Amino acid sequence: MRQVAIYGKGGIGKSTTTQNLTAALGEMGKEIMIVGCDPKADSTRLILGGLAQQTVLNTLREEGEDIELDEIMKTGFANIRCVESGGPEPGVGCAGRGIITSINMLEQLGAYTDNLDYVFYDVLGDVVCGGFAMPIREGKAEEIYIVASGEMMAMYAANNISKGIQKFATTGKTRLGGIICNSRNVDNEFEMIEAFAKELGSQMIHFVPRDNVVQHAEINKKTVIDYDPTVKQADEYRTLAKAIDNNDMFVIPKPMTQERLEEILMDYGIMG
Ligand code: ADP
Ligand code: MG
Repeated sequence: MRQVAIYGKGGIGKSTTTQNLTAALGEMGKEIMIVGCDPKADSTRLILGGLAQQTVLNTLREEGEDIELDEIMKTGFANIRCVESGGPEPGVGCAGRGIITSINMLEQLGAYTDNLDYVFYDVLGDVVCGGFAMPIREGKAEEIYIVASGEMMAMYAANNISKGIQKFATTGKTRLGGIICNSRNVDNEFEMIEAFAKELGSQMIHFVPRDNVVQHAEINKKTVIDYDPTVKQADEYRTLAKAIDNNDMFVIPKPMTQERLEEILMDYGIMG
C-alpha cells in the first residue's frame, strides 16, 4: 500500500488533480482510498458525484466514538473509497489534530484493508503550520507530491512545503516524489517548474495543462475522466497517473533560498 500526500497552496488544484489522478488510477484497476484533510471537505466531491459527505469529525462530535465505517466512508467512481476528515468547530481546536483523530478512527474501524494499492491524503495548506504536517509527521504518508504552477506564490509555498518535508524526512521515511505542475499559463512555465523541481533535487512529474473541460466536469460534479473520457485532458491525468505509478525517484528535497527562487523566476518568467 502506497500512502501519498498531496500538498500545495490553497486553490492551486490539489483536490481537482487528486481526484482526476485517482480516477485514472482507478481505471487502471487500482484500489484507492482518498482521505480529504481540508476543513472545506471538498476533496471527494467529484468522485462521489457531489454527495454530501458526513465528515469524520462531525460524526465523532454528533455520535461519539461509537461509529460505523460506512457512515464516514462512501464509495464512488471506480470503486474509490472516500473519506472527509472535516474541521474542528470554527474558532476552536486545531485542524491538524483533527486529521490525526480521523486517521486513527479509520485505523480503528479497519479502513486500511490489505487490498488497497493507494491511500491519498489531500492536505490543505502549508507545512509551516505544524498541524497540517500531521500525515507526514506521524509517518502515515511516506510519499509526497506538491502541486504548483509558475505563479510566484505557488512556488513560494512549494519551497516552504519542501522545508517541512526536509525536516521530517531526516527522522522518518517521508520523501518527495515530485512536483505536479498544474498550469496557470504562465510564460515558460514548463521550463520554469522543471528548473525549480531540479533545484529541489526532485523532478516535474507531469505538466497538467489548464483546460476549461475541468470546469465543465466540475459543474457536473465529475472528474474529467468520468465526464468525458475521450478528451485530451483525460489523457493528461492518465499520463500523470502512470508516472506516479511507475515513479522511482524519491528524494529528501533541498529547499532553496528566497534569492535563488527569485533568480529562477527572473530567468524564466520575464523572457515570455
Ligand atoms: P485546492 O484543492 O488546491 O484548493 P481545487 O482543486 O479546488 O484547489 O482547484 C481550484 C479551482 O481550480 C477549481 O475550481 C478547479 O476547477 C480549477 N482547476 C484546477 N485544475 C485545473 C486545470 N488543470 N484546468 C482548469 N481548471 C483547473
Ligand atoms: Mg482542495
